[in-house]
Amino acid sequence: MISRRKWVQSLGIAFGATLTSKAYPVAGYERETPKQNSSHAGLPLSEYQPKSMLHVRETRVERARFPLIDIHTHISVSANSEHGVDIGAERNYLGTPEELLTVMDRKNIRSMVNLTGGFENGLTDVISRYDQRFPDRFYSFAEPSYARFLEPNYPRLQAEAIETAHRAGAKGLKILKTLGLYLRENIISGKLVKIDDARFDPMWDACGQLNMPVAIHVSDPIAFFTPTDRYNERYEELNNHPDWSFYGHDFPSNAELLDARNRVFARHPKTQFIALHAGNFAEDLGHVSESLDHYPNMSIDIAARIGELGRQPRTARRFFDKYQNRILFGTDATPHGDETPQQIFNDKLYEIYYRFLETGDEYFDYAPANVPPQGRWRIYGIELPEAILKKVYNGNAARLLNITV
Ligand SMILES: [Zn+2]
Repeated sequence: MISRRKWVQSLGIAFGATLTSKAYPVAGYERETPKQNSSHAGLPLSEYQPKSMLHVRETRVERARFPLIDIHTHISVSANSEHGVDIGAERNYLGTPEELLTVMDRKNIRSMVNLTGGFENGLTDVISRYDQRFPDRFYSFAEPSYARFLEPNYPRLQAEAIETAHRAGAKGLKILKTLGLYLRENIISGKLVKIDDARFDPMWDACGQLNMPVAIHVSDPIAFFTPTDRYNERYEELNNHPDWSFYGHDFPSNAELLDARNRVFARHPKTQFIALHAGNFAEDLGHVSESLDHYPNMSIDIAARIGELGRQPRTARRFFDKYQNRILFGTDATPHGDETPQQIFNDKLYEIYYRFLETGDEYFDYAPANVPPQGRWRIYGIELPEAILKKVYNGNAARLLNITV
């Protein structure tokens, strides 16, 4: 069998426009002499869009088998942020409820949870526009107001803000990766604030007391913590979004971030945490399993990680069997978010998730895009039985949100 690298070289494919195979000999592999008659020598990787010649079953799943709760969407976002920190309560809206409901009804989406509901009057505005106008179709989560971080009584203020948000109708608290990767001692300057910083303890406790789950995004794909070079399996994605790289500078490692997160889980056993993006370590489900085993107050969602779960379908299936009561359906859907095809809110996106969860289809795209946006591979369905599907689609989320479906 020809090695993948040799095969790539033989096509003359190279990373980026400047690095051609000619200029880029690889240690340990013999270079093949480029064919003189090849008109494709030097084809940039960005232009390579291979079409699979495989003939296997293709199933279109237009509607989810059960009404679902999408626990991870972004309908509103902060209008102002600086260096990754949201400053100010004002919100931008990415889709009207009416526009979203058309797709929701077609796809059997009972409810969308808008995680980035914000804080203060931004949050109450979101709740009145969506949650209150269309009860049970939209739920909103609150976010911390880091803009007040420098106020001397911030820990108490932030805990009180959770109570106020709860009274206003917020269903939970969302923590973006801001905590751990952007928030600094002087908000946007100084040392990075640690995820388990004691100043947030009253906030985590308030969520526990009020039965508000905390949806927490910590760290990012492990490849984002390694150099953006020819060995990086998400090279193209990082090349498209250089600011997503957390390699170098003063960024903590992925392990340090996850350890700090787990210390929060341990210190606040009465608070329910939803570790987003497959526990933020979909590349290592063994690690996620260990955390789930250690912390009974931890659940996960699968948002923007079917690309990872679906390339390890047998491991993923065993994982779903074992943790079927703690996995929530989520997509990271963002209306009109055309920069990231894996999360644009539309029919196609949901059909791919349904296909992954419900069918045994093989080798299909995990995102509606010409080039797989999170790494050049395809995925396999895991054919969940109905009992598990139902829990993942709505049962587990309903329990955490204290609602009945
Ligand atoms: Zn998200």
